[in-house]
Amino acid sequence: MITNRQLFLSHLAQTTSFPLLLEIERAEGMYLYGENGEKVMDLISGIGVSNIGHRHPKVIQAIKKQADKYLHVMVYGEMVQSPQVKLVENLLRTLPKKLDNCYLVNSGSEAVEGALKLAKRFTGRAGLISCHNSYHGSTHGALSVCGNEELKKGYRPLLTDVKHITFGNGRDLSEISTNTAAIILETVQGEAGVMAASRYYFKQLRQRCDATGTLLILDEVQTGFGRTGKFWGFEHYDIVPDIVVCAKAMGGGMPIGAFIAPQHIMDVLKRKPILGHISTFGGHPVSAAAALANLNVLTESRLIEEVETKAELFKKYLRHPAILEIRNMGLLMAVEFKSFEIVKAVIDRAMEMGLLTDWFLFRNNALRLAPPLIISEAEIKSACGRLLAAVDDVLA
Ligand code: PMP
Repeated sequence: MITNRQLFLSHLAQTTSFPLLLEIERAEGMYLYGENGEKVMDLISGIGVSNIGHRHPKVIQAIKKQADKYLHVMVYGEMVQSPQVKLVENLLRTLPKKLDNCYLVNSGSEAVEGALKLAKRFTGRAGLISCHNSYHGSTHGALSVCGNEELKKGYRPLLTDVKHITFGNGRDLSEISTNTAAIILETVQGEAGVMAASRYYFKQLRQRCDATGTLLILDEVQTGFGRTGKFWGFEHYDIVPDIVVCAKAMGGGMPIGAFIAPQHIMDVLKRKPILGHISTFGGHPVSAAAALANLNVLTESRLIEEVETKAELFKKYLRHPAILEIRNMGLLMAVEFKSFEIVKAVIDRAMEMGLLTDWFLFRNNALRLAPPLIISEAEIKSACGRLLAAVDDVLA
């Protein structure tokens, strides 16, 4: 008999070199359960998605309730759908007042596409700037602003008017000119292996954008919804962006994303005769209901306040001569080793020990740790003990 694993390998497009191949039976809280009795602690949250854990009961309840009422009814922005309205009302409360208009989409890449189009249309300019080693998504526009040449090989021509500058380098900000529609950057570079910039840098960035009329787009796809210890990553820097982009952890496990801007900017999308932005499924009512429940859990609990203490525990327990450095912004953590070979072997050994970890797209000698924010102190201790044992096994 042909197994699901064989069917997966033969017929589901393979784009990753090392698929994990765990056959999932169910998931709950911190754990994934396999068809063959495996129990795996998720230390990467499905790559930054399950911030409140897998299948949070409040999210499941909201999904069921909405599924009993209606699913898709009409393309985004035509009908008044209460899950969308309530979600946006609550989401905007987490943001500075000027960010008062939200366009709902389905993913991070789509949110980036919308933000880039909006900036070009509002400013009437074509120039875009992003940072080296940034990741913003896999569609053509989002790929164009990714700061990694390997990713783009084979897909050119992409958007041509794009410049890359070095994240955190104040001098490079002089590249922003009156021909620049927008600069897009992450609040801490995720796929680069958790690279932060200073408060002073972000202040300078805001000033340069104001001086040139350039829109500042912050990509919070990986950093939003509490991951860094604040609801939004940019709260660490005391600046207000012009457009915020989010997705991943927004839906509590369901697909949804958004680009958020002041109304006077967003309004250009409805100005005739040019068509605005269209999405059939954007803000799907079931995803929106799940996202609202997810948002309520995050804002009504102490999960975000506890992030920093939990991150400190990881740093306290994860001490090993082979660990060169631990970089983190809250519970987005990079554990640096000497080589990819060591990281890959640690990931494989940790998986055998029941821990799901990963590396970073542009920093493969760093181990990715980004657990659900619900992780307990006992689980942190147990995970770190097993990780250190995995490192010992690999180096033995
Ligand atoms: N921006 C950032 C910062 C991301 O980390 C990602 C996904 N890793 C994206 C955008 C793209 O999101 P999606 O995969 O949902 O399209």
